[in-house]
Amino acid sequence: MKKYIAGNWKMHKTKAEAVELAKGLVEALKDGNHRYLIAPSFTALDAVSAVVKGSNIRLGAQNMSTDEQGAHTGEVSVLQLKDLGVETVILGHSERRHTYGETDEMINKKVKLALSHNLEVILCVGELLEEREAGKATAVCEQQIQDGLAGLSADDMKNVVIAYEPVWAIGTGKTATPEDADAMHKAIRAKLESLYNESVAKETTIQYGGSMKPANAAQLLAMPNIDGGLIGGAALKIDTFSAIGRFDK
Ligand code: PEP
Repeated sequence: MKKYIAGNWKMHKTKAEAVELAKGLVEALKDGNHRYLIAPSFTALDAVSAVVKGSNIRLGAQNMSTDEQGAHTGEVSVLQLKDLGVETVILGHSERRHTYGETDEMINKKVKLALSHNLEVILCVGELLEEREAGKATAVCEQQIQDGLAGLSADDMKNVVIAYEPVWAIGTGKTATPEDADAMHKAIRAKLESLYNESVAKETTIQYGGSMKPANAAQLLAMPNIDGGLIGGAALKIDTFSAIGRFDK
């Protein structure tokens, strides 16, 4: 089954470094079996767009403004992303939620705006360590899904991917066990079924994110409810990201 393997480069790489990494990945993944995406910083989108054009790697952005355009100093708009060839936008990443104070309401506004411009959305959800320890992990993810998707139709969901990223596993080297991750993905599908229907629950791609690396990717991706990965640290090198992208080769 085709998995969706996405790399979030966060605030790493100069333009020249980003181009070098993108070129290496185009070569390393050209005969890969899966769907691929890379999300460089805004500053490298234009250059990386030219590199991935015509390849099997989609171009993603890591964030976007709540507004289409206007007086929003320092923000980047959906129109500007589209202009650079961006096809997908990652929204609601935990670093945006917890470091920059993005609320579910803001994230929902971004999701709707992105979809109205035919961008694919990767909506990130995930609980903090204290929420997991308090037994609230599922409730937190369900609420983020409900609020992040508010007002979307079943048809809109064709362009939405969910990334389950337990915050305690991001950039920490701690990975959820394949069983724990799969259980949350299953709960997310149940939530999608209650919000929409069985077919949306089945068809929606749900990625796992949180210290995925070549050593654990195959095990995680073998789980029945895990449809791909959203990868940070291991996405920054050609060998580690392509090893995940070719986990079954
Ligand atoms: C992420 O930030 O989306 C992520 C999963 O990072 P890492 O792979 O480094 O944990």
